[in-house]
Amino acid sequence: MKRVFSGVKPTGHLTLGNYLGAMRQWAAVDQHRADALFCVVDLHALTVDHDPARVRRLSRQAATLLLAAGLDPRLCTLFVQSHVDEHARLSYLLECVATDGEMRRMIQYKEKAARERERGGSVRLSLLTYPVLMAADILAYGTDEVPVGDDQTQHVELTRDLALRFNQRYGQAFVVPRATTPAVGARVMNLQEPMSKMGKSDDSGPGIVYLLDEPDVVRKKVMRAVTDSGRDVEYDREGRPGVANLLEILAACTGGNPEALADVYESYGALKKDTAEAVVEVLRPVQARHKELCADPVFVEGVLRDGAQRARAMARPVVDAAYRAIGLLPAV
Ligand code: ATP
Ligand code: MG
Repeated sequence: MKRVFSGVKPTGHLTLGNYLGAMRQWAAVDQHRADALFCVVDLHALTVDHDPARVRRLSRQAATLLLAAGLDPRLCTLFVQSHVDEHARLSYLLECVATDGEMRRMIQYKEKAARERERGGSVRLSLLTYPVLMAADILAYGTDEVPVGDDQTQHVELTRDLALRFNQRYGQAFVVPRATTPAVGARVMNLQEPMSKMGKSDDSGPGIVYLLDEPDVVRKKVMRAVTDSGRDVEYDREGRPGVANLLEILAACTGGNPEALADVYESYGALKKDTAEAVVEVLRPVQARHKELCADPVFVEGVLRDGAQRARAMARPVVDAAYRAIGLLPAV
């Protein structure tokens, strides 16, 4: 059986982008077809300016929402990254095969570092090395496939490079993974800035649909989405990004195809209205289940405890073998 690993960062409230690009596939497909691990990658939330209490709260919320989205602890392993020491242990070894030039080429590093500087802050060293920790997250489990949104494919490529380099230098220690992305919904764009990805840690609230937004808030955000100056509904990602984004969201929510949907609509208004309702319907069961789970924090804690135990047992031998392969003296 294939091994699958993926995660979300507790850097903000989870968004429709996280759901359509990643979480939905994890629940509907990956946990059924593979030996799957899903992780709230809390160490990654420390790479940018953070508030400790908020990270803790968002970690719990992310785990609860992952369950609400349909992850079933009988089918998959759900855990919190910092509960398993192997991630940080392996990250250091991978820092010893990665180069600083490779890190500086990462698009997300460039974007997030620029944003931190714009906000007047400094850039944490961990933001630069974050893709190495992500590689450790993936490689520690002998992962074959990493189901992610489009924006993470560069980091998975880097993970492949590091695994291959380590294996070549020190012997076969890691499975070389590959990214998988959904056919539609792999890059949901910000409704107010359709040239940028919808991201949970962005400042632009009105352009982001959060999974826990009330139906009326969702409707308002979608109805106010920025569209393009043209009038007819056309699917053109480059030329008409606002409308293309709405068509993709509608397609992802209804199982349709964005090009075919473009022929169905004559006006932006009708497209927005149907998109808003489709999003509300997709979020409804997730929100209902989230409410139930919030009433049962002991269940969620139990899932995370079991998950961490299972994850540790899987990662330990892989990371120990890498320690030996790279030349470290085993403890006696
Ligand atoms: P941040 O702004 O802090 O980076 P994020 O919204 O990008 O937050 P991540 O935790 O980095 O969320 O990513 C979790 C998963 O969601 C990843 O697989 C990522 O590719 C996917 N994802 C994130 N944003 C989108 C989006 N707009 N469309 C599709 N998938 C997305
Ligand atoms: Mg991200």
